[in-house]
Amino acid sequence: MNILVINTGSSSIKYQLFDPGEDEPLASGLLERIGETGSRLLHRSGAEKKEIQKNITDHEVGMQEIVACLAESAAEAFARIGGIGHRVVHGGELFRAPVKIDESVLVAIEEHIPLAPLHNPANLAGIRAAAAAFPSVPQVAVFDTAFHASMPDHSYRYAIPPRYYQRYAVRRYGFHGTSHQFVARRAAEYLGRPLTQLNMITLHLGNGCSAAAIKHGVSVDTSMGMTPLEGLVMGTRSGDIDPAVHLYLSERTGLTLVQVDRLLNKESGLKGLYGSNDMRDILQAYDRGDDAAKLAVSIYCYRIKKYIGAYLAVLGRLDAIVFTAGVGENAALIRRESLGELEGLGIVLDPVRNQSPEKVTRIISADGSVPVLVVPTNEEQEIARQTAELLAF
Ligand code: ADP
Repeated sequence: MNILVINTGSSSIKYQLFDPGEDEPLASGLLERIGETGSRLLHRSGAEKKEIQKNITDHEVGMQEIVACLAESAAEAFARIGGIGHRVVHGGELFRAPVKIDESVLVAIEEHIPLAPLHNPANLAGIRAAAAAFPSVPQVAVFDTAFHASMPDHSYRYAIPPRYYQRYAVRRYGFHGTSHQFVARRAAEYLGRPLTQLNMITLHLGNGCSAAAIKHGVSVDTSMGMTPLEGLVMGTRSGDIDPAVHLYLSERTGLTLVQVDRLLNKESGLKGLYGSNDMRDILQAYDRGDDAAKLAVSIYCYRIKKYIGAYLAVLGRLDAIVFTAGVGENAALIRRESLGELEGLGIVLDPVRNQSPEKVTRIISADGSVPVLVVPTNEEQEIARQTAELLAF
């Protein structure tokens, strides 16, 4: 049986069709600008590529378009779809693992909208559209937060009066769980050791960035908090910042708290420091000796280093550091700066291995060092795996 993986945004649907035993999808695509002018579907199956331009008014119409495209260009694989796995951003405290979707799950995802006001409504629209298009195929929700549900209370609770946790669910949840889980398992396979015996720090450095401390295969801490704003410096998010800055900036500049929130989420991080959230632009400017780019890189890497130090203390013993996502997989300079001068902690990069542009799981540390790995992430494949496992294919 094949698994269709669906990742729905407010105006987009990404999909990949997997044979769960295989790394590469049988077909994939992106439908963008749903409900806007100029909607288009980019579809790919094998070597065949297709672009369809058509006004798509909502997710349900979009899903019908995707179904038609899959049925036509990947008929055999399409006929074998036995499950649909949905990426759902926020499962709160309720969902600690993937779950088969029924009415009560839909209600619960809806109830979590206040915690993920941009993402959960879109995820729900995707689930409803898929249910309409595939009425007899079981659907599974795989939550970004679930892998971190194992965090102990001392790591997920904030030091504020308990009623704000009890009444308003203010606590740390963490995100990117599917990616951290995928790369941790891949790293263990690569090292030839059971995941349950390994302590790792995984660093997902994409547009959003987060670190996770994984003890014996289980997440015990992660850098994103109640929202994805906390933690590492990101493409457009500041990461950790004194919470008093919100009020101070609001009072000094006249910006409302909502505008300050936007500033910290959308106009900060690399974009705020340098003017672009694309690390490739920053690295080019860095090479030219641009001061703003140099500062952006050093703040970004210093923050990563601080989290590595903290998580080393949390874990007590470290068996691997894993870099993943766009920056983590590709930017040798960022890996080098983040791990600079950590020889005293047993962490030493091999400069030649670190520079290698290979796109596969690999070790980039020197012999004798705590292993440092680059592992290409594949959240869709992990969702397919978890969906197939839950449906017991
Ligand atoms: P998303 O969080 O959107 O999935 P990605 O994992 O695709 O993000 O990562 C996007 C980031 O990766 C961008 O900052 C981009 O500049 C960076 N990136 C992609 N390729 C490279 C590269 N070859 N060198 C440096 N950075 C890269």
